[in-house]
Amino acid sequence: RDLRLADNTALPHAVADSIDGVIPVFVFDDAILGDPDTSAPIVEFMLGCLRELEANLRKAGGRLLCLRGNPVPQLLNLAKETGANALYYNQDYAPAAVERDVEVERVLGEAGVTVRGFKDQVIFAEQELLTASKGEPFTVYTPYRRAWEKMLAGIGDGNGPDVLPIPKLRSLRVMKVESIRLPTAKSLGFNLTHRFEIAPGESAAQQRLREFCAGPLRQYDKHRNTPALGASTSRLSPHLRHGTLSPRQCLRAASQARHDGGKAWAAGADTWIGELIWREFYQQILFNFPHVQTEPFKEKWTRVGWRQSDEDFQKWTQGRTGFPIVDAAMRQLSSTGWMHNRLRMIVANFLTRDLLIDYRLGERWFMQNLIDGETAQNNGGWQWSAGCGTDAQPYFRIFNPTTQSKACDPAGKFIRRYCPELAAVPDKFIHAPSEMSPLLQAECGCRIGQDYPAPMVDHAEARKRALAAFASAL
Ligand code: FAD
Repeated sequence: RDLRLADNTALPHAVADSIDGVIPVFVFDDAILGDPDTSAPIVEFMLGCLRELEANLRKAGGRLLCLRGNPVPQLLNLAKETGANALYYNQDYAPAAVERDVEVERVLGEAGVTVRGFKDQVIFAEQELLTASKGEPFTVYTPYRRAWEKMLAGIGDGNGPDVLPIPKLRSLRVMKVESIRLPTAKSLGFNLTHRFEIAPGESAAQQRLREFCAGPLRQYDKHRNTPALGASTSRLSPHLRHGTLSPRQCLRAASQARHDGGKAWAAGADTWIGELIWREFYQQILFNFPHVQTEPFKEKWTRVGWRQSDEDFQKWTQGRTGFPIVDAAMRQLSSTGWMHNRLRMIVANFLTRDLLIDYRLGERWFMQNLIDGETAQNNGGWQWSAGCGTDAQPYFRIFNPTTQSKACDPAGKFIRRYCPELAAVPDKFIHAPSEMSPLLQAECGCRIGQDYPAPMVDHAEARKRALAAFASAL
């Protein structure tokens, strides 16, 4: 989660406190690599980030040591072999990571190694913000945001904590521990079929942040729901996920652009900062309510009678539902490893309402395909869309996929990009091609049922079915 040199909280502390030097280390954890949710796109993206980190560390006078196995014995062995007396790391708040880090701290502590964890991947961590009334974690976004902004105003110059410079590293002492070469995804057993549209690595992240804050940020509030406008959102999520960028760098850049641009930039910058706050909101939800990993946040939604249909689920994953916006979005995911936020909401709504399939299957499919797949945000997004999360949309608010399609891709530009069989469908029918006459279907080379599927459900009927299923769980 911290694959960068600039503004990496633990690194300058380690450098400042060290006498003999610092050994930057990355452990390829077999438990993570063997997890069925760890898949080719995210591994490949991470390796891309590591390749640049390795090169940047060399330039800064250091070296990246790569190990493989269980991090606890690996790190203990490293400390013994090198005589290192301290381990510095940046904290991660996902339950499995917390468990691992507690164990590392215990075992290395017993061996006399000081272990220091730093807050790095969020501006305010798991329990820094609590409700004023009861001192409990927030479960609703708006009051959380208010508390977050109030707390921010009290630190630094009001625009957030300072961004840390890259420290100068001293070269390592000779040691017996051998670094493994950076592997390829293939050598780790992953077969990549995706073609990324977002480049990995710290320099790509910085460049994208600069470009976004120099232009699209201004209109972010207006354009963020239009996937056809490629640059309307930052596309920084894989970088925030892998820590090639810090949230402080994002906040600083947006605040600076807001300050320099004046009034015209305020709404765009504030809306975008609001999304960074959503990210932290979900991080603290996962930490404080770890049951959300397997169950709905609200107990009553455990009683929803989900349908079981592998066939329908497969059609959804393959982008063959007969609803163009859903299909284009699902194909964007499986071909590029990323999907626009509005589309994530549309496809999640379609799976959980139109198909009445358990949100956990969709959540898992996303984790297996996203290069920004992150338990906190993914779980939060799925529970929100399925109507069973903390601050979820009410269960009776069901998206109409065709209306959504018209609103977010009016000219069908995005649909045509990912569903080439619909390229010649006239604009009038691009959101519902099954409404074309047989003659028109033949003319534009898109015969429904042959070249492109007929809609797999009748939305009006599916809506009634979903309402009944959710109402019976109340
Ligand atoms: P921008 O619009 O530029 O926003 C900036 C940053 O804010 C993002 O990079 C992200 O870190 C954060 N952010 C934006 N929207 C949200 C949000 N709704 N909730 C939490 N954080 C947000 N985001 C992930 O990072 N990983 C996931 O696995 C993930 N799964 C999702 C699943 C579903 C069903 C839904 C509805 C949303 C999910 N999101 C997830 C949130 C959101 O869709 C992505 O963060 C966003 O699309 C990333 O694009 P961007 O970087 O251009 O975002």
